[in-house]
Amino acid sequence: TWGLVREELIKRVGRNNYVTWIEPLKFSDLRQGVARFEVPTSFFGDWVSRNFGDHIRAQLNHAGAQVDRVEFAVSATRPAAAPQPAAPAPAATRARPAARPAADADDMPGAPLDSRFTFDSFVVGKPNELAHAAARRVAEGGPVTFNPLFLYGGVGLGKTHLMHAIAHELQTRQPHLRVLYLSAEQFMYRFVQALRERQIMDFKELFRSVDVLMVDDVQFIAGKDSTQEEFFHTFNALVDQNKQIVISADRAPGEIKDLEDRIKSRLQCGLVVDLHPTDYELRLGILQQKVELYRSQYRGLVIADGVLEFLAHRITTNVRVLEGALTRLFAFASLVGREITLELAQDCLADILRASDRKLTIEEIQRKVADHYNIRLSDMIGPKRVRTIARPRQIAMYLAKQLTPRSLPEIGRRFGGRDHTTIMHGVRKIEELMATDSQLADDLQLLRRQLQG
Ligand code: ADP
Ligand code: MG
Repeated sequence: TWGLVREELIKRVGRNNYVTWIEPLKFSDLRQGVARFEVPTSFFGDWVSRNFGDHIRAQLNHAGAQVDRVEFAVSATRPAAAPQPAAPAPAATRARPAARPAADADDMPGAPLDSRFTFDSFVVGKPNELAHAAARRVAEGGPVTFNPLFLYGGVGLGKTHLMHAIAHELQTRQPHLRVLYLSAEQFMYRFVQALRERQIMDFKELFRSVDVLMVDDVQFIAGKDSTQEEFFHTFNALVDQNKQIVISADRAPGEIKDLEDRIKSRLQCGLVVDLHPTDYELRLGILQQKVELYRSQYRGLVIADGVLEFLAHRITTNVRVLEGALTRLFAFASLVGREITLELAQDCLADILRASDRKLTIEEIQRKVADHYNIRLSDMIGPKRVRTIARPRQIAMYLAKQLTPRSLPEIGRRFGGRDHTTIMHGVRKIEELMATDSQLADDLQLLRRQLQG
């Protein structure tokens, strides 16, 4: 029966997880509705039980066995009674920790790596090209050149996608590598659990025997002292062995509050790259790629000209929202059997569009720019014409035009009732200067990132 179940389980949990967690299981027996398996360590058994126990039970039943419960017991070859803490657990080397369940808070714990998150499906644009190149380099699996790779950026910009892509690629190129991917939250959870159940040696062994460790959303462990401590030691142990580490966070290492300084500096000593907020071209590229994907599924789907451009222009917050919008649009259009027009999009996505608008007001932009250049908010709308005030004001106008859907007259009203030609002049001026003034270009990029991130 177990043989039959195998194929099905691979489909359910993914080959990666299968090889790592299920293959090492040894079937013992099945009695009175209880299927028993031998596992290398109790930590291992626990993990399998939590993450894959239900799958295993369901598939056994599916194959005709009558199983109410699955149990995992530490293999009898391991001397359980003899206290030999120093002896290495014989079976632990068989435990081949590999890509672990997806890490996003909104994903189910225990889900396998998302098979859609590959390099092929990652659209490269200016805002993410560095991060992408660095991820590619790590995925080639050559000698470790920078350690760790630290990816950071706002929510929904592709950090998790890139990490999964690295894991997929490594598994394909070098199947023998032990790649462990998990979120910082899962790391903490496992750590606390290991402490509670006195399995801390197993825990350390597991984490220190991997070839590549990837920890997603590391900001999560900020302020969690003992988890940080353990993370630090794991980190050092792996770096000492020249094992690759990949970390992601929502901000730069130095900006994570309540993270120990020694950890910050450790995180900074490899390559730190950020994913910038998407720009219009990248968003359009992502939408186009998605449409291609859908096209192969639903033939005959028609999208009117301008719809994708409209979405890329209006939904600037994060890629996840953008994708969600498109999915909804397709679902709706195929349900009612209609062509996707601009009107349909506006109707069907009214709430998303509204939320996206609400994201950024002209006042927020004015406030941020005023802060940045150290002038008063009131000067943004006031009449002063000295350069030190007029220039930031024009920058705010430019950003208002770029980052909000407001028209020139509307923007003019928020700048103390200025005429729309004044706004246009300001916007053009900044566009012109930007081309030659790299300090200004940098400022704008920073402001934009802070406003949209
Ligand atoms: P993060 O981890 O940074 O919050 P994710 O990696 O979860 O973001 O990305 C959110 C969604 O957007 C995912 O579905 C991902 O596939 C998609 N996505 C983000 N960036 C890109 C990109 N450059 N190309 C294709 N899809 C992307
Ligand atoms: Mg993520």
